[in-house]
Amino acid sequence: MKLILSLLTLSVFFQTTLFAQGSLIINGKEVFSNNEVVFHQLDDHTWVGSGNQMWHESLYLLEGKDKALLIDVGTDIKDLDKIVASITSKPLMVVATHVHPDHTGPSINCFSEVFINPNDSVSVPRMMGDYKGSVKYLKDREIINLGDRQIEVLYTPGHTPGSTTFIDKAAGYGFSGDSFGTGLLLLSVNFSTFIETCEKITSMMESYKLKYLYPGHFNDNNMETLSKIEDMCKVSKDVLSGKIKGTVNTESQFGLKLKVSGKGYDINYNESAVK
Ligand SMILES: [Zn+2]
Repeated sequence: MKLILSLLTLSVFFQTTLFAQGSLIINGKEVFSNNEVVFHQLDDHTWVGSGNQMWHESLYLLEGKDKALLIDVGTDIKDLDKIVASITSKPLMVVATHVHPDHTGPSINCFSEVFINPNDSVSVPRMMGDYKGSVKYLKDREIINLGDRQIEVLYTPGHTPGSTTFIDKAAGYGFSGDSFGTGLLLLSVNFSTFIETCEKITSMMESYKLKYLYPGHFNDNNMETLSKIEDMCKVSKDVLSGKIKGTVNTESQFGLKLKVSGKGYDINYNESAVK
């Protein structure tokens, strides 16, 4: 019941308050479509699934020589395991960018295990309460080996304490879920922690020469970029120093009563995050 309520709250929030649902335009070849999800090809061995319950919540499917990796399961997509198996025949590992109903929703029950950041485990009873499988933990900086493709796990707390980004260094991109907000960051940790996250990811983007991070609500033109995250870092520092004061967030949800804006994004937060 609690899960349904939080699903409904998030759903109403995403669809009415935050974003217009809008039409989804993704240029890659469509490889699967039904009334709950559509999968498009991003490159030879990478696909994005777009749900339609919470502003095109994104699922990413990565294939290597030996294994495939599903990053997030969306909201409530029936037979997601079978859908994924129709795209790749490789043995599948399932991971989550964070524990929220539009990323680890009821479709998680299609899979017998999921790997999450342990710092989001506090949300499991509330957000994934009916999950029958086993919850396992990712380690910061661990490498997930898909055979000829290595994916690095990076803890990026901000949106949730256990938000996580997955980096494909060789491909020059990553998958950051809602860590940087897809244009609207709902901050649930303090600014100091988020600044550390921004510095950690920007130094990695520079040294690995990453082009961008695919976000948790992908719409073909809204990737997270180095310059945007650097700007978020600067604005966050200015909030901490008092140089910038947040304005009252009139569309306050989840108790996030304040907001600041930068180039192409808002950050919603609480006074208690200013430390
Ligand atoms: Zn989220």
